[in-house]
Amino acid sequence: NKQWLLARTPPEGLPTDDDFTWVETPIPEPGPNQILTRTIYLSLDPYQWGRRRSGVEEPGEVCHGRTASQVVKSNMAEYQDGDFVFNTNGWQEYGLSGEGMSVFGYMFPRKINPAEAPISTAVGVMGMLGLTAYSGMYLQCEPKAGETVVVSAASGGVGQIAGQIAKILGCRVVGIAGIQEKCDFVTGVLGFDACVSHHSETLPEDLRAACPSGIDAYFENVGGKVFDAVLPLLNRQSRISLCGLIAHYSSAVMDQARDHWAALGQPTFERQNVQVHNLVVREFVPDYQARFLDEMGAWIREGKIKYKEDLWPGLEQAPKAFQAMMEGGNFGKTLVGVGDD
Ligand code: NDP
Repeated sequence: NKQWLLARTPPEGLPTDDDFTWVETPIPEPGPNQILTRTIYLSLDPYQWGRRRSGVEEPGEVCHGRTASQVVKSNMAEYQDGDFVFNTNGWQEYGLSGEGMSVFGYMFPRKINPAEAPISTAVGVMGMLGLTAYSGMYLQCEPKAGETVVVSAASGGVGQIAGQIAKILGCRVVGIAGIQEKCDFVTGVLGFDACVSHHSETLPEDLRAACPSGIDAYFENVGGKVFDAVLPLLNRQSRISLCGLIAHYSSAVMDQARDHWAALGQPTFERQNVQVHNLVVREFVPDYQARFLDEMGAWIREGKIKYKEDLWPGLEQAPKAFQAMMEGGNFGKTLVGVGDD
């Protein structure tokens, strides 16, 4: 069983090769009320860096990660050999799920139907990532037709979906992304109305020009200078979904990033009566997962939502892919192909 373990609690900064250790161990046997699954796709997500840096994940543990997998051996009546499931095998070829294997409170894997959608989408647009975009944009920001909506990290996994949902709702949607190729994708393929680059030295002016009527809803993935550019443009009664602050995940004060962000925004929030919603996707799972799967499935079938995956073949590449994602070197939802689908 090939595995990547966390080598150390990482210091300030971006991930490096020194943070991960490659090992090979025997494939485990499932105990009572457990299943053994082989990983097909591993999802790489920025929050994993927060877990590692804050010590939630301990050195020597298999790196955490959500996965789309196939059942190899089942000791649970609900799952048959060959079933495809969404679970949390982490950065390894084979993992156990079921009794005693709770991660984030999810003990039992969700079955996925490969006839409905490619199984990679279970860790992407039809998984937590899609639900994140749906909850933050649709349920928290509640954008109305004609309003101006801004999405940061707009070409990334969550951002691309969040912006397209606002387009479906009839909004003017402006993305913020890195390189020109990403901005072109956001407008040309995803259909946003405009996209500005955060690499531009005139980001505040560029964003102002792209939002002539100000900003009514902002989907925050980034923080830092992107948030600085957004703040003066927020309209009265505007809404923000605070989804993530990736610009701060490598800093020494990562844990306080949300407090700093809120303190910086407070005078504007008060003056403009801005509603700020903290977004924690797992809080939306019990009440909204089923509705989300129905609605998102229909949008994809109707061609209203497109998604771009950035697939890195081979578990060996996981640290490299993770580093790239944290630096903006990914283009779309970052996935590692671990086994054949
Ligand atoms: P992405 O696919 O968007 O990848 C991260 C992107 O962030 C990079 O491609 C890069 O895009 C951008 N980025 C990185 N550093 C900076 C920086 N310093 N300034 C500006 N942009 C930067 O990742 P995800 O879609 O998986 O995650 C997006 C956000 O959503 C993250 O903040 C994540 O933590 C959050 N999230 C929150 C959840 C919740 O429950 N609240 C659940 C899931 C995700 P570019 O090249 O365009 O700069």
